[in-house]
Amino acid sequence: MNRDYPLEKLRNFGIIAHIDAGKTTTSERVLYYTGSQHKIGEVHEGETTTDWMEQERERGITITAAAITCFWTRTNEPDKKDLAKKYRFNIIDTPGHIDFTVEVKRSMRVLDGAVVVFDGVAGVEPQSETNWRYADEANVPRICFINKMDRMGASFEKSYASILDRLTKKAVRMQLPIGAEENFEGVVDLLSMKAYRFEGAMGETVVEGEVPEGLKEEAAKYRAELIEKIVEHDDDMMTSYLDGKEPSMPDLKALLRKAIIANQIFPVYTGSALKNKGVQLVLDAVVDYLPSPLDMPPIKGIDPKTGKEIERHASDEEPFTALAFKLQSDPFVGQLTFFRVYSGTIEAGSYLYNSTTGSKERLGRIVRLQADQREEVKKVFAGEIAAAVGLKDTKTSHTLCDEQHPIILEQIKFPEPVISLRIEPKTKADQEKMGMAMKKLADEDPTFKVSTDTETMETLISGMGELHLEILVDRMKREFGVEANVGKPQVAYRETITQQAEAEGKYIKQTGGRGQYGHVRLRLKPLEPINPDKKIAKNVTREEHFEFINSIKGGVVPAEFIAPVEKGVREAMERGFVAGFKMVDISCELYDGSYHDVDSSEIAFKIAASMGFQEAVRQAKPVLLEPIMRVEVVVPEKFMGDITGSLNSKRGHIEGTEERGLARAIKAKVPLSEMFGYTTALRSMTEGRASFSMEFDHYEVVPPNVAATIIAGRK
Ligand code: GDP
Repeated sequence: MNRDYPLEKLRNFGIIAHIDAGKTTTSERVLYYTGSQHKIGEVHEGETTTDWMEQERERGITITAAAITCFWTRTNEPDKKDLAKKYRFNIIDTPGHIDFTVEVKRSMRVLDGAVVVFDGVAGVEPQSETNWRYADEANVPRICFINKMDRMGASFEKSYASILDRLTKKAVRMQLPIGAEENFEGVVDLLSMKAYRFEGAMGETVVEGEVPEGLKEEAAKYRAELIEKIVEHDDDMMTSYLDGKEPSMPDLKALLRKAIIANQIFPVYTGSALKNKGVQLVLDAVVDYLPSPLDMPPIKGIDPKTGKEIERHASDEEPFTALAFKLQSDPFVGQLTFFRVYSGTIEAGSYLYNSTTGSKERLGRIVRLQADQREEVKKVFAGEIAAAVGLKDTKTSHTLCDEQHPIILEQIKFPEPVISLRIEPKTKADQEKMGMAMKKLADEDPTFKVSTDTETMETLISGMGELHLEILVDRMKREFGVEANVGKPQVAYRETITQQAEAEGKYIKQTGGRGQYGHVRLRLKPLEPINPDKKIAKNVTREEHFEFINSIKGGVVPAEFIAPVEKGVREAMERGFVAGFKMVDISCELYDGSYHDVDSSEIAFKIAASMGFQEAVRQAKPVLLEPIMRVEVVVPEKFMGDITGSLNSKRGHIEGTEERGLARAIKAKVPLSEMFGYTTALRSMTEGRASFSMEFDHYEVVPPNVAATIIAGRK
């Protein structure tokens, strides 16, 4: 079976936006235009456009699906039914709220480009900055769409300036709006110097016309600016342009495409999704300027057998390599595992090798989600995104590949959850359901963690923020019927050690019959930040926050007891030492010990290890760590003093302030523990005229006086 779409006609992209900028509305329009186009020629009696929208909203699921497939033919293509002119889009969902930026990060890994939606009144907002930074880290080419041009107070120029000012100097106008606010009519395309208006109930008819008289001069000026920014990227074109010869349109577009894909230019479009103006031209831009998988550099991974770095190209001929990037329940087909294929192909019914876990799973069915249906797929090809039905052991971020040609792709890095709360099922029945629900949710969301407080035996759930946990608790109730009492959100503290120490752990019981004998010597060191590329020696197990080195010589601790020693250490780390919080960033070396022919057992070594570890920690100056948040408060000038004062009193460190239109933005690093209830406090300090955003930055040692209070509180 051959691929049904040439790879260069594929676009994997996301729509990224600050909450409320209009991502949902824009996505709905995209589905509408691409869907209606898909159906052109078919007659749907009585199915008006609004009906379609309503059904879509009732289902409400397609839009939140991890990936939706749709089809698009350029607006100016005369024959929309011509298959050769069709492009396939896989639109990857990215959520808007700060607590879910991890989802944005995750999706950045699998998309090749993005459309970033801005509110034409507010311009760049704090969340847009965060998302922009993530996209920068992942080198994702972007098209900007300044939405809501019909709103009162909308300004294309101001919003464009905020992009230049706060996001990138490489942004450039591709369009100008015709009119604004209630008189917003359409857009001028600067490259072609044509005006576009959108007619019909859903703006489905794109009408090309002349640039309005009043805009001609401005358009000519910005067009020249655009052309200059494009030809800058090619010496020959630049020279001939300076000689007065403008490159041909195909040459300009090809060079622009290259520059956008290389993150050298970010084109800016505009419109109003709600008023059905401009979205189709953004879709044309996706076709023209966002990369196909062929434009992407090869993906890198590690060969698990040799530890060497290997590459895979977007080609059907290479061995199968895919990344599972999202688990989602679907009301119709059950659990879906969304995956992106980087190379090779896979057929429904075949076996997948999960190189992250080393296990094999049968890939029963493959589906693609479209606006109005789930399409069963027999085979998926390089560059594609699809969902597997019924995979059991595959989690987010696992690599799926060909067992004969194993590769482990770089794991998606997720930030540590920083807030936790106690949760208690209301009844015995709830308890069982809760266990299942939590497992399911944790499988879906790697920033949601479940643990047990070893002292009180209570269940703790941890996540990225108050809202994140609130939503998870709510989902447990709605989707799994779990009734539970929850405690107040608390900071997820950590513990670590600050110096090297050695200690001995002995667990010896000899009371007639068979005794117990375990004896180890351990050396602890603070773990240096790990260089993931460094090759790991055979005797070392290592992950982000822990390293275990076995340097036992001559079998003084027999091989079969090494794993139990490591297990004992890990369990002791979970229990913590200072105040019962999980310990992190420790390197533990087992360098000596002894055993007894008869009495030694796994359990004896596990206990000895845990005792030895605790003793070593006692000597290694253990400390508490707390999450420090990156905070930004935007306030009118007159409240500046009050706000910086209040942040300082919260042990905050002010990093700087900058002008933000008429307001000021204060950037600070503040311990999370001081930020609970800040929304309310800020409102009362500023008569409700401030806004703030907060995201996790790093863990830091808690000052001794504060630590003393936390420790006392845990007793
Ligand atoms: P999301 O939170 O980014 O998904 O944003 P939504 O699409 O839900 O839009 C947030 C609000 O803005 C809703 O009330 C929309 O109706 C409104 N909205 C979205 N696009 C536009 C637009 O182009 N113009 C106007 N005036 N309102 C819009």
